[in-house]
Amino acid sequence: MVSQVVSKFGGTSMGDADCMRRSAEVAAQRNSRLVVVSATSGTTNDLILLGKTAQSGQWPESEALLQKIRSRHEGIGNDLGITSEQKARLAEVLEEAESIARGIFLLRDCSLKAMDTLMSLGERLSSILFSKAMSEALKNKSATTPVRWLDAREVLRTDDQFGKAKAATEEISKLCREKWADLIQAQAVGVTQGFIGSTEEGATTTLGRGGSDYSAALLAEGLSADILEIWTDVPGIATTDPRICSLAKPIEEISFKEASELATFGAKVLHPATLLPAIRRNIPVFVGSSFDAGQRGTWVRREVKEAPLIRALALRRKQVLVTLSTPEMLHAHGFLAKIFRVFDDHKVSVDAITTSEISVSLTLEDSALLNKRLLQDLSQFADVKTEENLTLISLIGNSINHTPGLGKRIFDAIGDINVRMICLGASKHNFCFLVDGDKADEAIRRLHRSFIET
Ligand code: ASP
Ligand code: MG
Repeated sequence: MVSQVVSKFGGTSMGDADCMRRSAEVAAQRNSRLVVVSATSGTTNDLILLGKTAQSGQWPESEALLQKIRSRHEGIGNDLGITSEQKARLAEVLEEAESIARGIFLLRDCSLKAMDTLMSLGERLSSILFSKAMSEALKNKSATTPVRWLDAREVLRTDDQFGKAKAATEEISKLCREKWADLIQAQAVGVTQGFIGSTEEGATTTLGRGGSDYSAALLAEGLSADILEIWTDVPGIATTDPRICSLAKPIEEISFKEASELATFGAKVLHPATLLPAIRRNIPVFVGSSFDAGQRGTWVRREVKEAPLIRALALRRKQVLVTLSTPEMLHAHGFLAKIFRVFDDHKVSVDAITTSEISVSLTLEDSALLNKRLLQDLSQFADVKTEENLTLISLIGNSINHTPGLGKRIFDAIGDINVRMICLGASKHNFCFLVDGDKADEAIRRLHRSFIET
């Protein structure tokens, strides 16, 4: 039996007609059953800007943005020679963009709900165009397989947290089985949108920026696919960011656990939630470059052949260290529960934590500080101190908490760079610490030299 493959192509792989053709060739080559696409690169940003511009009452500027979006997509459509039916569909979505922008302009109100519908247009446009590229690629392979454009909102059920909706995974799997499973059995290739979903009431939602990877994984789970492929513009997951360290190299194989830590602690290749559905259904994930599909790429799987002590280094910039101190913590209980309830109420996620007898330090994304109420609420329980412009550096690998001498090797490598906080022990796959933002790149280069290049 042939493997059921779900492939996702990111924005740069949708960049123009040539990119779409190249991506479609890749999908045809790999016998993809379902192709999940992002918006063409830059379009989501343009749509967000459109929403904000219309909201602020600038109609001529909004029209200019609409025109930019329109001509980009019509241009690609002409290059690909889309059918008249596809042209009509494209025109309909573009008209919808104009109507929504006008509505936002008239009301001077761009709610998260309106923004989600506006942003969804990016993926809806690119997927119409990509359907054409896909049929051509199949024809070139002399395949008679039809292509079916599918609206992801039929199956990708979410809650109504607009802007960052939560996927209803069981419902998605049920809907996939009911509505799309036949497609995967029958000889048709589906083309659908990443990033977007809908509530039970039919309102359009999005999964948060970069969410197309996660969509593809949810659909792969729902369709019980054998393989999930994430096609991007880099040849797989690298040992660290190649822009920081020129000797970074692609990783051939990495375990689910290591890759989850890597995605969460800053590697940009995969959306952090992507691996959850893959782990649940044990679906191997391939990450590769649609621009150079012949390269090896990276496989992410449950079982891997090698388990090196340090596989990769990740970094997360713009971290804030929040230190909460109170003598009340001395010999008391319930203090941590109180403060974490505050983070929960504000839906702020905490990344690394250390504690002493009367204080707790934890790291947050610096955007969390925009929420002034968060700090006010925390200061009801403790003195609050914040330090900004820090970077969280993570070493990702195996047996990290059972390897004598590892700490010495790490601190010897970073030498005189001050470490502001350390987290070790919670996971055998991760050792992370905080440094000054402007020392982070140097720390990464030194650690890469010491642990990966040798
Ligand atoms: N188009 C969306 C974004 O730019 C989703 C994605 O590309 O994954 O965030
Ligand atoms: Mg992406």
